[in-house]
Amino acid sequence: MIFTPQKYRIEDKPGVPFIDENEIMEFLNAAQPDTGRVRQIVAKALDKNRLSLEEVACLVKANDPELIELIKQGARELKEKVYGNRIVLFAPLYVGSHCTNDCQYCGFRTSNTQAERATLAGDELIREVEALEDNGQKRLILVFGEHPKYNAQFIAEAAQTVYRVKKGNGEIRRVNINAAPLSVEGFKTVADAGIGTYQIFQETYHKETYARYHPKGRKSDYDNRLVSLDRAQDAGLDDVGIGALFGLYDWRFEVMGLIRHVNHLEACYQVGPHTISFPRLQDAADVKFDSSYMVSDADFARIIAILRLAVPYTGLILTARENAALRKEVMRFGVSQIDGGTKIELGAYSEKEVDPQDLHKEQFRINDDRSLGDVIEELLEEDYLPSFCTACYRLGRTGEHFMEFSVPGFIKRFCSPNAILTLAEYLEDYAKPHIVTKGWMMIEKNLKDLNGNTDVPEIRNRLERIKQGERDLYF
Ligand code: SAM
Ligand code: SF4
Repeated sequence: MIFTPQKYRIEDKPGVPFIDENEIMEFLNAAQPDTGRVRQIVAKALDKNRLSLEEVACLVKANDPELIELIKQGARELKEKVYGNRIVLFAPLYVGSHCTNDCQYCGFRTSNTQAERATLAGDELIREVEALEDNGQKRLILVFGEHPKYNAQFIAEAAQTVYRVKKGNGEIRRVNINAAPLSVEGFKTVADAGIGTYQIFQETYHKETYARYHPKGRKSDYDNRLVSLDRAQDAGLDDVGIGALFGLYDWRFEVMGLIRHVNHLEACYQVGPHTISFPRLQDAADVKFDSSYMVSDADFARIIAILRLAVPYTGLILTARENAALRKEVMRFGVSQIDGGTKIELGAYSEKEVDPQDLHKEQFRINDDRSLGDVIEELLEEDYLPSFCTACYRLGRTGEHFMEFSVPGFIKRFCSPNAILTLAEYLEDYAKPHIVTKGWMMIEKNLKDLNGNTDVPEIRNRLERIKQGERDLYF
């Protein structure tokens, strides 16, 4: 069995807060692991087993450069062995920046009276989606502040609007959501709209720090947020994403909090989160940061590697908050999804000019503003296979990361062929000529790698059909 439920001081029950800070601190204060122990833990992960909280704590505490290298090497190997070279691409679409909370790090906070607030509705939303489709996007995450007007109905309607927009060969095939926690009823409403993942980040698992950064509004209730994704599960929405905002508190504690959260969901619902996000704090309008817990680039790479080893069957998302060079470097340690062509100012995808220095229109500053084409070109150069695949979700195969991981041959039968087919669509419809050449070379290379394992003639047949103008062919 891959996942063995563990017993913690607070018994895992649906809807019951589960973080015991003393327990986490005891794990973190235990003796330093030696090389043998770290090797053992890495080997366990490479053997496709989930790590216990105690084992994750050992990896977190391993400060010796040689041990850190062992962990990073393990994560690299796990990614290559289990997931191969695919990277799934998506883009965020900010729908509304009104917010009743006052998160001290965020440009949308109520106390930022200078913020230019907006909500994309009707034609504005449609124009943005058309612009995203014109770039070649197929997967979006819609982002909202927390405000009574962004209720479940509003979010559901926004998702439905996005699904309806079709321009040329363009269409959005998966809409994920990052918005405030909902009630069970609310989660049912958005699930009925056909959303993919619902993401809610705890920001920090450390209660005292949480209280400091979230002084008022609904988000000030730590416990309510902590168990909010339990309500999603209760509503039948089992595709959820968790995350921590790194830089608010000690990263070691946050990694433990994230893993404890995974354990809680697995113990209560027999399914972990679909994805984990690990945003690092970025500059935002008039925000003054306490730099004590800022995460260095080196530690950021460790965080990704540890998460990869700890939860080998969960998607890891790396966003354009990080600059292109760092993204390229840390992707190797186990990232499965990245955004490309990202703009976070409301309305920016369809507007010609935006001022990157004007922080009053956006939530925070991003550091990778390359076009989707440029991101894809770099992926191809780095030997990754860019993918816009949405097949599992549309065929009702939920928990695809788990299946990729646990079902022998799943990746070669489904994921790689679908990555190839969706890349071919992108090359046919949106890519610049020099990317077209590189893209088809990559497709050929990957078809060779698939030889003998899948129905390569059928993939070739579908590639021909795509060249003839057919779209949305998937396994
Ligand atoms: N308003 C909803 C909420 O807070 O749950 C939706 C999410 S918010 C629009 C998206 C995420 O951006 C937050 O959960 C937070 O982790 C992140 N974020 C906020 N301010 C940030 C900053 N200055 N730098 C980096 N990420 C930030
Ligand atoms: Fe509002 Fe979310 Fe920003 Fe907090 S992080 S101020 S809830 S948009």
